[in-house]
Amino acid sequence: MVARMSRADGADAPYWDGLEQGKLMLPRCNGCDRWIWPAAHRCGACGSTGVRWVERSMTATVFSWTRTWHAFGGAESLGLPFTTVLVDIDDCGIRLLGRLDDPDRIDPKLGEPLTGRIGRTQAGDDSIPTIIWSRAA
Ligand SMILES: [Zn+2]
Repeated sequence: MVARMSRADGADAPYWDGLEQGKLMLPRCNGCDRWIWPAAHRCGACGSTGVRWVERSMTATVFSWTRTWHAFGGAESLGLPFTTVLVDIDDCGIRLLGRLDDPDRIDPKLGEPLTGRIGRTQAGDDSIPTIIWSRAA
């Protein structure tokens, strides 16, 4: 049994809406101009409630990664093995999780540049927009 994710509300709703539209949208504080992640309705640094959502290019570098070899609930659609990456989005200090397009199972290198595209992950009955990262050309 997979819990259905609610993406329609909450501080990160514009992130999910952006992915549905094929864009990476990230929040930035109007008060101090810092990037805010995880998304919040108030900046943790300056207290401002003014948050704007800015489209970012899907370019990043590998911060960490793992390859999953064993099935677990909810991820059956990914096939095995699959590689998950934690990436540093370029020039904003935000780290995001995503999947690595990794058909040859080449171990990622920390700091390796990647480019992203929007794909889908099926989790039970839910189709979730997902950033799929590939090695930069
Ligand atoms: Zn701020």
